[in-house]
Amino acid sequence: MTAGEAPVALVVFTRDLRVLDNPALVAAARGGRVVCAFVRDAAIVRGRPFDARRDAFLTECLSDLDAALGRLGTRLVVRAGEWVDEVVHLAAEAGARAVHLSDDVTPYARRRFARLEAAAGTRLEIRRHPGLSVVPPGAVLPAGGDHYHVFTPYHRRWLAAPRRPVLAAPRLRDGGGDLPGLPVPPGPRPAGIDHGGERAARARLDAWLRDALPDYARRRDALERPGGARLSAALHFGCLSPLAVVEAAARRPGADGFVRQLCWRDFYLQVLSARPDAAWDDYVARPGAPRRDPGVLAAWREGRTGVPIVDAAMRQLTAEGLVPNRARMVVASYLTKTLGQDWRCGARHFLDHLLDADLAVNNLNWQWTAGHGTGSHPKRVLSPTRQARRFDPGGDYVRRHVPELAALDASVIHEPWRLGAAALARLGYPLAQDGLMAVQP
Ligand SMILES: Cc1cc2nc3c(=O)[nH]c(=O)nc-3n(C[C@H](O)[C@H](O)[C@H](O)COP(=O)(O)OP(=O)(O)OC[C@H]3O[C@@H](n4cnc5c(N)ncnc54)[C@H](O)[C@@H]3O)c2cc1C
Repeated sequence: MTAGEAPVALVVFTRDLRVLDNPALVAAARGGRVVCAFVRDAAIVRGRPFDARRDAFLTECLSDLDAALGRLGTRLVVRAGEWVDEVVHLAAEAGARAVHLSDDVTPYARRRFARLEAAAGTRLEIRRHPGLSVVPPGAVLPAGGDHYHVFTPYHRRWLAAPRRPVLAAPRLRDGGGDLPGLPVPPGPRPAGIDHGGERAARARLDAWLRDALPDYARRRDALERPGGARLSAALHFGCLSPLAVVEAAARRPGADGFVRQLCWRDFYLQVLSARPDAAWDDYVARPGAPRRDPGVLAAWREGRTGVPIVDAAMRQLTAEGLVPNRARMVVASYLTKTLGQDWRCGARHFLDHLLDADLAVNNLNWQWTAGHGTGSHPKRVLSPTRQARRFDPGGDYVRRHVPELAALDASVIHEPWRLGAAALARLGYPLAQDGLMAVQP
């Protein structure tokens, strides 16, 4: 920096890939010139490679962010490698004295922040900002506790909690000059996935609020053409600010049920923030050891249990990477309660395949369904056939994902075992007895 030049601040984007309502970006812009960066973390890729769909979605988010930053006066510098080293190097290259980031609650993100803070020492100021949730984890607390473990009282307090204003995209003064970075080409897109990035997510949100929100309560649980906003991946990658989504929905007819779902997201984030161990350990231990039967788990994963609604959802998961909430509940209850398998096996499989895979939301939903969350009913089991008749009454969802059963009509499609073993063998579909898994796949 030469005398008289404004100081440079580095913004490191993580899963806050947006320019609207991004407190880290706004804070950095206030200080002078900015360098905006994203570092593809080698440790994450090494640990468990992103599946192709998620990788394509992320790449599209980065390319969209680069374009948005371009309109505001700068660009996105993309690097790849050991995340902490890259951030510290970039700060040095840019002559930055401060690094601005969005705060996060996952155990890995917290370890990474701690390592960054240690590496930064006193030379570099590390500043974390809100933006991950509507109400920051820890901002509303029960008397004498460090988090809420029951949703209803949390929801009540959350609705009344003060909120920061939604922030406009700031004007940016580029401080990066010609710092080198990797290109972010939109890349090949696997068939059928949603577009990544803030622009696509905002367009979807606006259209959905206008056309579908009033019908949300009635359509949300439908399995075929569910009435949700289909914005969970955009929220996970931060293409949308959850606060901005809540503010955009507020006071419209039908908004309460939708906003309540975003409160569930915040609820799980505040649980994980206070109890990082709950990512993989039982939040509430229950008696009895869960089982891990390889054959049972394989049949469930591959969608050949012989229970049509379960098989439809599991095949949709691997084929499309998104599954309606009701179907997630049914397959999770089936795996853990009906088949008695360890919830961790199901959660892991979901994380490997979901486009919206989110450690807090996924693993704590799994725990709640399995009966390990305090707010849940440990004995409640969802009957797959009853759920199927209620939420896929015509059988279209099963017909689409389980082609072996496509010719069956609604009276029998959810209980094909009633046709008998010989008929099922001709269809090439496993025989399950009374909604229990087939012994012989
Ligand atoms: C076993 C299981 C695993 C799940 N794993 C994930 C996951 O990895 N990532 C993920 O984003 N969601 C997960 N969910 C929650 C939910 O299924 C998805 O968020 C929802 O299907 C996304 O569709 P939508 O955007 O149309 O939701 P909408 O109904 O439009 O809801 C709006 C938003 O609220 C949030 N939300 C909705 N339902 C829930 C919920 N039950 N808990 C917390 N937040 C919620 C999501 O961010 C969602 O985008 C899981 C649910 C279950 C039962």
